[in-house]
Amino acid sequence: MGKEIRMIQLIKGFKDILPGEVELWQQIEKTARSLFEDFGFKEIRIPIMERTELFARSIGEDTDIVEKEMYTFPDRKGGDLITLRPEATASVCRSYIQHKLYATDPVRKFYTIGPMFRRERPQKGRYRQFYQINAEIFGVDSPLVDVELIFILVTLFSKLSVSDVNTRINSLGCPECRPMFKTALSDFLTSLNEKLCSDCVRRKDRNPLRVLDCKVPSCRAAMTDAPSIPDYLCPACDQHFETTQTALSALNVPFVVDKGLVRGLDYYTRTTFEIQTSALGAQNAIAGGGRYDGLIKALGGPDIPATGFAIGLDRLTEIAGSNSTDLVKTPDIFIAALGEKSRSLAFEWNCALCLEGVKAEMEFGDKSLKSQMKRAHRLGAKHVLIVGDNEIREGKVMLRDMKTKDQVSIPIEQVVENIKAKIS
Ligand code: AMP
Repeated sequence: MGKEIRMIQLIKGFKDILPGEVELWQQIEKTARSLFEDFGFKEIRIPIMERTELFARSIGEDTDIVEKEMYTFPDRKGGDLITLRPEATASVCRSYIQHKLYATDPVRKFYTIGPMFRRERPQKGRYRQFYQINAEIFGVDSPLVDVELIFILVTLFSKLSVSDVNTRINSLGCPECRPMFKTALSDFLTSLNEKLCSDCVRRKDRNPLRVLDCKVPSCRAAMTDAPSIPDYLCPACDQHFETTQTALSALNVPFVVDKGLVRGLDYYTRTTFEIQTSALGAQNAIAGGGRYDGLIKALGGPDIPATGFAIGLDRLTEIAGSNSTDLVKTPDIFIAALGEKSRSLAFEWNCALCLEGVKAEMEFGDKSLKSQMKRAHRLGAKHVLIVGDNEIREGKVMLRDMKTKDQVSIPIEQVVENIKAKIS
């Protein structure tokens, strides 16, 4: 008996996006691109791998992402450590610095769309390869650009008929005021020692802020009375946060201030935000972002402020208003050819029609008319063109409207133009 050949499955937490599903992804990406372009953003494409150090330095050594979730390996035996990107901001900053994109004008708006990799526990709405739509604005200190980003997010969700969105904002302060908050938080954490998980016990001295976004239920319960950052803001941060709120209200963007919102990356300063939706279940965050004023400098660039967001594209496709099946394009015409000679002609017409923007399909095998009609039906073709030896002899082919069942005879001469005229 022959050895059974084992089929190779995809990796856990990874997925295929199949035809029939991909149309919705394309529609969302198209809507996002067009909105970004209207707001003056330019696309930037960054690599999928970077030196590990880039992520460790920007996201933070004590974060879940860097500690546990990155796909990191040596480039070759003994080579540099490289990492599959877990997020885009660090790479966009690296690119901005490396190519001195600030030289002519430090104010730059970028967007990028692509896959990210985090070795998290897979579940609904959480994958190991997932996709993000990212936007970053560099070189502007004003809170108005944070508001612009939030405005773009809520506009995009409304264009995609995503309902139930809930915008939460907070301020994380700056290097001026955060130390005072950190001291208060550390004092509070010392009093909680035995109630915290082992990660938090380890992190509380090195990076107490990380304890605030620990997902372990007992840690969350223990943190309900923790000091909150907005109570410790310096006057400049306070003013920044006030203006953010006033400008959001002026644009009629509903929001709530969530004093517990810290987000899982170290680089955030001042305004941070998250958009949640009740349509998603447990993984309810659909987008998040905020200001990261110190990051470009920390990565070896000039002292330039920055702010940005990331949308979870996988989650967005799960709740966007459009139905993927409505977006699938079916052939305008199916050419049913009978016999070798007809098939050669059909093939020429098929190519010419496709070039003219008419979605055409044909049967390449030697199949009966009945089976070809069945296939045309299965593909959802709007019309069928029938060509056989008789048709060639008479110089006319039959065009059938699959919905009305009407049939018209059209001359073979200039058949492509004739078909275009009939079906448009
Ligand atoms: P973050 O980069 O962690 O701020 O995440 C931004 C957005 O990306 C989140 O709001 C989610 O919608 C999405 N996201 C993050 N991690 C995952 C994941 N593992 N699977 C699917 N979506 C994710």
